[in-house]
Parts: sequence; C-alpha cells; structure tokens
Amino acid sequence: MSDFQKKFDELLAQQVEKSGKLLTEFKAAGRVSKANPNKEDYSWWVENGQEMVQRWVEWRDGSGWDFFEPTPGVPAIELGMDIILDEVQIKMFLDRVMINQDGELVILDLKTGSRTPSSDLQLGFYAVGMEKTFGIRPKWGTYWMARTGTTTELVDLDHYSTEMITEIVTKFKKAQHAEIYLPNFSHCQMCGVVQYCRFKNFKNPNVKENS
Ligand code: SF4
Repeated sequence: MSDFQKKFDELLAQQVEKSGKLLTEFKAAGRVSKANPNKEDYSWWVENGQEMVQRWVEWRDGSGWDFFEPTPGVPAIELGMDIILDEVQIKMFLDRVMINQDGELVILDLKTGSRTPSSDLQLGFYAVGMEKTFGIRPKWGTYWMARTGTTTELVDLDHYSTEMITEIVTKFKKAQHAEIYLPNFSHCQMCGVVQYCRFKNFKNPNVKENS
C-alpha cells in the first residue's frame, strides 16, 4: 500500500467518524462512464488523488511562488479566520495564501473537481477576511485545478470591497429572517438532503409521464 493510500484511508476514516454515517452511505461524485462505471469512487480517488498531489508538487516547484506567513515560520495553509459582518459570524479556511514572483499576495483555492467555479465571490470573501483579520488585503485570487495542475487566470479582488461583501451578507440575513431560501439546482447531485427537497422531488401534475 502506498503512503498516499495510507494517509487517504486515515483521513477518510476521520471524516466517516465525524459524519456519524457509514462509509456505504457516502455518494461517489462524477458521472458513470465506460472507464468509471462506479463514478469517482474510492478506487478512483486512490489512483487519481496521488496524481493530483504529484501535480501540486510539480506546480509548486515551477511556480516561483512562496507561502505567505501571517506569523513568521507558519505558512498560510488552511488559514482559519473568523470574522463578523453585520453581526453575522463567518468562518473561513483559506487553502493557501501565497506570494507571487512580483511580491504580491495571491489567495489560492485548491479545486479537485472537474468544473472551474463560475464565480470568484468565494475569493472575494477571503480577501475581506484577510483585511479584517490581518489588516492586509491580497490583490489577487486564483483557483488551482488539481486535474490539470494549473491555475485559473488571476482575478483582481480589489472590487470585492468590505462594503460590497457586507451588503451581500446583509441581504442573505434578511432572506434568512424572512425564511426565503431559493433552491440551487447546480448542487443537487451532492446534496445531503435531496430526498427531502420538495423542489427537487416536485412532480408537475400537468406533465404526462411517458408510457
Ligand atoms: S436538492 Fe434541493 S436543497 Fe439540495 S441542492 Fe438541490 S435544490 Fe438545494
């Protein structure tokens, strides 16, 4: 058994225990294909996860980027932050904060899925989190895609001001108080409450079933 698989098994066992579920209750992501008839299951991750780690090592070696150290000697890996915006507590963990070749700070979020996120709002929240926590605001943000071993285009996070992010939080808070929760169908595949969701399980009485 490889070192990767040993570590993977150890972390998987921790997650299973934390969830209070059985491993068999976990769903495999991805799509059924000829190559992956069981989707991206345990075997898929053992094989591909190791390659993703290798890609990260190679990318790091070639990037010329270094880790930002909010505290000297402690690199910004899984950097935990806890901020309050409009009386709402927001917890965040930044995968990496790095310094590029030009000496600028870059928030880097690791993505193991196949889809590049359609929005950089998550990175905007992180920029505000760093500003409020450390008094330093990273200008740039990017996603590192583990399946290709490359980063997405650097996005300028300056437009995500504290005011703008706070306004989003305020609107969310108002919606929550009014119990307005809009369904987000792009996440149904991995949703833990899909069997209870009336939007997902809604049957239109005016539509005839195919016979
Ligand atoms: S199943 Fe319902 S609750 Fe879950 S992600 Fe889809 S719309 Fe949202």
